[in-house]
Amino acid sequence: MPSSFSNLSLAEPLARAVAEMGYESMTPIQAQAIPVVLTGKDVMGAAQTGTGKTAAFSLPLLQRLLKHENASTSPARHPVRALVLLPTRELADQVAQQVKLYAKYTNLRSAVVFGGMDMKPQTLELKRGVEVLVATPGRLLDHIEAKNAVLNQVEYVVLDEADRMLDIGFLPDLQRILSYLPKQRTTLLFSATFSAEIRRLANSYLNDPVTIEVARPNERPATLEEHFYSVTDDEKRHALRQIVRQRGITQAFVFVNSKLGCARLARSLEREGMKTTALHGDKSQDERLKALAAFKAGEVDLLVATDVAARGLDIKDVPAVFNFDVPFNAEDYVHRVGRTGRAGASGMAVTFVSGNDTRLIGDIEKLLKKKIELEPLEFEEDRPRGRINDGRRAWREAGEVGDPRDVLDAAAREPVPRAPRDWRPGAPPRDPFFDQPYQAPTAETAAAWEAGAKPAVNRVSANIKPKRKVAALFKAE
Ligand code: AMP
Repeated sequence: MPSSFSNLSLAEPLARAVAEMGYESMTPIQAQAIPVVLTGKDVMGAAQTGTGKTAAFSLPLLQRLLKHENASTSPARHPVRALVLLPTRELADQVAQQVKLYAKYTNLRSAVVFGGMDMKPQTLELKRGVEVLVATPGRLLDHIEAKNAVLNQVEYVVLDEADRMLDIGFLPDLQRILSYLPKQRTTLLFSATFSAEIRRLANSYLNDPVTIEVARPNERPATLEEHFYSVTDDEKRHALRQIVRQRGITQAFVFVNSKLGCARLARSLEREGMKTTALHGDKSQDERLKALAAFKAGEVDLLVATDVAARGLDIKDVPAVFNFDVPFNAEDYVHRVGRTGRAGASGMAVTFVSGNDTRLIGDIEKLLKKKIELEPLEFEEDRPRGRINDGRRAWREAGEVGDPRDVLDAAAREPVPRAPRDWRPGAPPRDPFFDQPYQAPTAETAAAWEAGAKPAVNRVSANIKPKRKVAALFKAE
């Protein structure tokens, strides 16, 4: 099995692009999938975002499309030859950016279409002709209906993150799209898991596929203290605050499943006096780096992130990880909690489990090969369940006029309440930086990374305008 890209005999323009990316060797999914896709066979690959699977399918597809490469300006000479379908606009945007980088020294054109933005610029791009089209299913159907996208010359189709597409309910859309494609084609399906539904999909649309599975990670740090608390959705914020306080947690990652939830949670924690920053698909690389630097410098206590945004981030050891939402993919659980308790340091992973999470917890149990015991969480304060104090109440109760944050800041400076009887101190974190006491923000001083921040250059989502129509997609990030 070749592990260096040089063993692949990629065409010079593709090899040059790969060299420019600085990749030293192939990832396991690349080493296994690229040679197979180069032969034109169908593939069913078990791999998720972050494993290098975009290059695993796009490099061999581009190589096979090179025979069609031409510099003609005629749209007719640039029909869609490869279609890549993804569940969310963030993933579609991310994959399209990578495809563009790999194809930059060729005359092969690529474009991306997804919902939540104007159809017009997408239409113009499609009408000019593109060989590789990356799309989310709903918006692609809009373009098919408007006769902007003609798919009768498609030779390759990639169903990427297929499990998430099915989770979101895209099966009927996928079936319709696939019905427009020529029967004679290569189909590649990538999914984090091979559930019964995925296998049914593969049986219907793939032709004698080669199955490729890279090892599913299920190793957690040996020193990890894991808790799964049974709470309602409305209790989660209260639970988070309480555990942070009780355990004297100085810094933590808080994982959520959607970028909308991410932004909302970060805002409300910030209002409650916790220095918080959000990392999600709508943040530019620049903003992400600033947030990261602020977290590393201790200017931010809680980093609220989605899985996609957190992937590739170089933050490896935090005292605690909270799964505010149970992840959609069991592997993400392992990735998330692997951020804490590394190299023998004590770490804590807390997962909030609500009524709808039974199936997801079952998936994690299967992956970890252990039974998960849900623990009840006793709330210290007698506050109304389901309605968490968002700050305004504290302000009104204090009867003061002014910025509610002032009151919250004062509250946050109170000594940490005594830990409950069953509290067990862990070994002190290895990094002295994490020993610094929690410092509540003052209303006037913006975090350094915010004060110096320029207006966002939002590379990922410059054209993305949230619209209600795509709200269902947010869930999947
Ligand atoms: P993906 O799973 O395709 O979303 O890729 C995740 C990240 O890994 C992207 O930022 C890629 O640029 C990067 N990547 C892909 N292949 C390699 C490789 N062979 N070596 C190092 N990084 C890679």
